[in-house]
Amino acid sequence: MAISPPDAFANPAVPRDLCTDCGISRTDDPKRCGRACQFIAPDYPAMEAQVHGRARDPARPDELHFGPFRRMVRASLVPPSPGAQWTGITTRIAERLLEIGAVDAVLTMAPDPNDKWRPVPVLVTKAEGMAAVRGMRMGYAPLLALLEPALAAGHKRLAVIGIPCQVHALRRLEAELGFDRLYVVGTPCSDNTTTERFHDFLALLADDPDTITYLEFRADYRVELRFDDGRVKTIPFLQLPISKLPGDFFPLTCRTCVDYTNVLADITVGYMGGQGEQWLIVRNDRGAELLGLLDDEVKLSEPGSKGKRAGAVKGFLANVERAAGGLPLRAMPDWVRPIVGWLMPKIGPRGLEFARTRVEMKACETVMHLRREEPRRMKHMVPAHIWDLVAPYGVASAASEAPRSEAP
Ligand SMILES: Cc1cc2nc3c(=O)[nH]c(=O)nc-3n(C[C@H](O)[C@H](O)[C@H](O)COP(=O)(O)OP(=O)(O)OC[C@H]3O[C@@H](n4cnc5c(N)ncnc54)[C@H](O)[C@@H]3O)c2cc1C
Ligand code: SF4
Ligand code: SF4
Repeated sequence: MAISPPDAFANPAVPRDLCTDCGISRTDDPKRCGRACQFIAPDYPAMEAQVHGRARDPARPDELHFGPFRRMVRASLVPPSPGAQWTGITTRIAERLLEIGAVDAVLTMAPDPNDKWRPVPVLVTKAEGMAAVRGMRMGYAPLLALLEPALAAGHKRLAVIGIPCQVHALRRLEAELGFDRLYVVGTPCSDNTTTERFHDFLALLADDPDTITYLEFRADYRVELRFDDGRVKTIPFLQLPISKLPGDFFPLTCRTCVDYTNVLADITVGYMGGQGEQWLIVRNDRGAELLGLLDDEVKLSEPGSKGKRAGAVKGFLANVERAAGGLPLRAMPDWVRPIVGWLMPKIGPRGLEFARTRVEMKACETVMHLRREEPRRMKHMVPAHIWDLVAPYGVASAASEAPRSEAP
């Protein structure tokens, strides 16, 4: 069997207020959350140095926004893999690792057999098993609860595909877990919510939400929906029914997450800077080795960058402030929305500038939401690079909020 059966849900999760159930609280030693968790006291400069040999260098173009990297490229797998979220670079890298025997297993998320949108952690041990895990699920599942079962099964050379809060905990514990080799393929992540809430969102987008097979927030300011009869529908962001969602639709974890681009992965596979293609951030030697595995299956080009982000970020920040903790609705009459929705892909930030825009918006959200809801956590949870990202918009840390290493 390609997918082996250990159950990530075998142990209960330890309830914690800021937690995305990455799986550590379900392991033999749940107290490790105190060291591992992104939502307690992350130290990104130290972790970046541990993983990549150096912390991000704000003097190097784009490292303040995207973390340390060797190379950024626009990329497409040719031909694209059926069922993939974009072209399938993420799962193809892992498939190649299994094909050449570089790893014993890949730890990732499969769709729940009873709900295609619900992620379920799995260990894939055969290359042909990777096809079944392609595509995006919405929600959280305890990926790292399968680290101990993986080791117990003798899988000491492992690849992990994870979102940033999972990768942070993995990297914190990597040394003590005792793997012989670990490859980390990360995807960016933002605006995650529970699978239940995601179903509520789908119900607002279509009369027949169960027939939706694919959803993506594209870099051209549209959401793409695909249906099981082959139909494709796109909706401009501005015309999404956001006003019908409850203010706490996105949990505080995801509104205050400080690592959009998965800076501790060996390679980040996303789409934000790709202008319709994928966007790869190769961060270290191991990331270069992973991209090399795709050889001529992947078409690469230089990422583009157009437009100016400052106006869009300023407008977003004003809306977050106005929404007072709820979802940031645009102050715009309904009749203007289609016009602006049509204009945005043409004049708004594109390519790398779009990615920088999204990272800065996320940094603004982090500060505003945490300040309002959990102010005493600010100095531990908000790293210096977030303050640098919001500084151009007049947002600064109060003395009580400054990261501990910088406080007077
Ligand atoms: C909640 C969420 C939000 C995202 N937001 C952004 C974004 O804002 N910008 C951006 O550039 N990219 C984002 N991504 C990543 C993006 O959707 C694609 O996954 C990525 O570009 C890889 O595409 P692919 O075709 O290479 O993936 P595929 O080859 O199809 O592989 C996708 C991989 O992701 C894993 N996966 C799917 N769902 C989950 C989940 N819920 N949790 C953990 N792992 C999962 C699958 O198991 C599979 O291994 C997000 C992903 C998730 C899960
Ligand atoms: S380490 Fe993981 S399981 Fe533990 S509190 Fe943090 S997110 Fe939750
Ligand atoms: S947005 Fe951040 S906290 Fe939420 S699931 Fe994604 S990586 Fe985790």
